[in-house]
Amino acid sequence: MTGSEGAGLSRVLRALHANGAATRSDLCAKTGLNRSTVASIVTELTELGVVEEGAGAVGGVGRPSLVVSVVPDSMAVIGWDVRVDNSTAIAMGFGGRILRRWMKEHRRGATDPYEVAARIVTGTTEIVEELPDHVLWVGMGLAMPGVIDPGGAPPRSIVHRAPTMGWVDVDFGAIVRAALAEQFGSQLPVLLGNDANLGAMAEWTRGAGRGSRSMVFISGDVGIGGGIVVDGALMTGATGFAGEIGHMRFDAAGGPCRCGAIGCWETAIGAETIVRAAGMDPARATVEDIYAAARSGDRSAQEATIGAARAVGAGLASIVNVVNPDVVVLAGHLAGLLEEYRHTVMEELRFTLSRQNTDVQVVAPAFGADSIVIGAAELAFEPTLADPSRLFSQDWLLRTE
Ligand SMILES: [Zn+2]
Repeated sequence: MTGSEGAGLSRVLRALHANGAATRSDLCAKTGLNRSTVASIVTELTELGVVEEGAGAVGGVGRPSLVVSVVPDSMAVIGWDVRVDNSTAIAMGFGGRILRRWMKEHRRGATDPYEVAARIVTGTTEIVEELPDHVLWVGMGLAMPGVIDPGGAPPRSIVHRAPTMGWVDVDFGAIVRAALAEQFGSQLPVLLGNDANLGAMAEWTRGAGRGSRSMVFISGDVGIGGGIVVDGALMTGATGFAGEIGHMRFDAAGGPCRCGAIGCWETAIGAETIVRAAGMDPARATVEDIYAAARSGDRSAQEATIGAARAVGAGLASIVNVVNPDVVVLAGHLAGLLEEYRHTVMEELRFTLSRQNTDVQVVAPAFGADSIVIGAAELAFEPTLADPSRLFSQDWLLRTE
């Protein structure tokens, strides 16, 4: 395969992955390739078994034309959302369909990298065994609650800093690759990304931020993460560490943060903070328990949640004033807070906003709790979509037998 053939193939794969199906003319329009090039690429992909062609209509009227559709379980990836007290994984097929979902809670504090890697291998084995043998597994993406070093060889392998996990400069990609190789005898590409950045990309490409020009995604869990899309691109910063909005100074008289600073936004709106503010022990109650108690009239739960909603709105105002997004997506426990106390969040936000920013939409994620794990799966597809020649040298694929 020549470089230009590979580039054409890459464009066709991307168009099909984003939309699931398209006519040959659609593919020409979307990729800028001529009909004969598209025809030969479609033949190649049909022989590989990742697409099939049949009669059907794609959003048009008149004579039905041949439609090229992805075969969702022909090739797939595994995405992981690795958290302090639970992990979620999905198998995502070509075209974006979720083929399997897997979730397990675990003991908080069980964050030894080798232990976490072993959990990933166990979950991956269960997922792979439930799906047909013919699936081409082309990669794994790990969403991590921390800062990922974009450099290195291979890139995006090292967790530079993950305060909630207690990790500093852990080459977690290498640990997972080695554990997978031991289990499956193959070198599946493993890419790591920051959880909020991956959630932002998933919501921006397929979810609540689709069509927006600039978007801020804020993930709420034990920590607060941020992913910022500006003019259609993820803001990475000079060294890839942009978007750490949980650690912006929020209250100079606030409490100590895991990161070593004082009064970070995370210390005002993190899930555990809300639980503690309601007078409960985070080891015994979740933030959803506090929301439920507030709904049923518990005074201290109400004060804790309203206080957090105000802090969300006030902190959001600083971010909106800097970024000027069309859409802000509040995910994790912040989506629940928005549902219960939208009025308070918006009141505080508008109070602080400069006049030109008042049109911003504040919404819950289109993918619910799955934005981050979907973003991890999309990250796992990326090397194959960028360089499809990999599909024709399949010796690195994960195999079940
Ligand atoms: Zn901090």
